[in-house]
Amino acid sequence: MSVSRRTMLAGGTVAAGVTAVAATVGRRALSPHRLPLDGGYAPAGNSLDWSNRGSIRCFWHVETEAPLVALTFDDGPMPEWTPQVLDTLGKLDAPATFFLVGKHLRDHAGVVGPGGYDGHEIGNHTWSHADLAQLDADGVLRELQAAHDEIVLRLGREPRLMRPPWGHVGGTTLIAADHFGYDIAMWSQPVPEKQYAGDPDGFVQRVVADARPGSIILAHDVGAKSRLLVVRNLAAIVQGLRAKGLRPVTLSELLASAHAVRADTS
Ligand SMILES: [Zn+2]
Repeated sequence: MSVSRRTMLAGGTVAAGVTAVAATVGRRALSPHRLPLDGGYAPAGNSLDWSNRGSIRCFWHVETEAPLVALTFDDGPMPEWTPQVLDTLGKLDAPATFFLVGKHLRDHAGVVGPGGYDGHEIGNHTWSHADLAQLDADGVLRELQAAHDEIVLRLGREPRLMRPPWGHVGGTTLIAADHFGYDIAMWSQPVPEKQYAGDPDGFVQRVVADARPGSIILAHDVGAKSRLLVVRNLAAIVQGLRAKGLRPVTLSELLASAHAVRADTS
């Protein structure tokens, strides 16, 4: 009898586990962390009319022996936030990469100015922060084209990198990126603002501790107040990285330091 009771309890545990998994999936479906499971899968390469190179580079970490890391800031520009970030980086002579939202640049270009991003790299983060995994090819192209044009218009430079919002990628994103000759830049180290709310010292130590050569650090210069943690403690982060022997560079410079493809020496 005790055996059958244990069996029943075990069965109950399994059932509860299934419920927990289902709840997790449901949450993801409704949050920015959702997987692009529905409404978005679109083919790449069904029509060669779109093709440029026929392939793209997508990276989230750079294998390198050089002591370099890349700081990246998404979603700007935004008044107060972006000037603070640029001011801190400028004082420390630390280059970074900014993935701009086109309509934010249109609305807030004045807070940065035409040369405000000088010394830094600029990437395309779409026009409206759209979920590209749920758009068809024309939709992705429009999002990227509008942001690309705005960057050229306001800053006078052509981006070579794009970052899809939330890292969501469908087939249409791949062919649209190819159309522009973009590389897709993801990240390897999101900064844990929420985890260290109210503990700026712990936050800085964690970011510095997690960084290693080739890390691509994801931060934001727009957003919820929790994200101010990185804006306000950016100088300490840069200084901490340097004290560890790691030098912040743009993504292009980080990529340029990548290992050459290893020759087969066997
Ligand atoms: Zn974003």
